[in-house]
Amino acid sequence: MAERAFMYCPTCRMSGVPHNEVFRIDNTKLQCTIGHVFSYDTLMAAKPEMIRKEVLEQAGPGDVTQKVFINGEVLRQFNEKYPGRLSATVTQILRNHLDDDMVIVDGMQARELHSLKVKTGAEIVAAVKQNMTLVDENEDLRKKLSFIEGMFTRNGVAMPEF
Ligand SMILES: [Zn+2]
Repeated sequence: MAERAFMYCPTCRMSGVPHNEVFRIDNTKLQCTIGHVFSYDTLMAAKPEMIRKEVLEQAGPGDVTQKVFINGEVLRQFNEKYPGRLSATVTQILRNHLDDDMVIVDGMQARELHSLKVKTGAEIVAAVKQNMTLVDENEDLRKKLSFIEGMFTRNGVAMPEF
């Protein structure tokens, strides 16, 4: 998945092509359109020219043009909040919807999670796993308590509480 990095390739610049864009290939690798590969650190060390995000979005490798209808006010607010990010965001949202195991958390649920100090998907998974562990431990403790209570029962009559 090639996502815009909003930088021009510094290697291409040195060979006389100043505006060849760099894309994110994965979390560790970036690559320009003719194949110069960088880690984030090596790219930044080469002091790439940044692309101002107000610049019109350009098609990346494999991109197509698709006419869609978008609520005008939603689009205006989105472009104001995330200038130059519309195509990349639409692509990511569509990609998310292709995953049959996707879980949608809406804004209200997300705010509730945040108030519970849960901010990422990984933290949601950890919280659910921890809850399952606690449920199991609670069940074990109930059984042990029930067994201990049984030791203090004579002829079906519970001993005085202690
Ligand atoms: Zn290059």
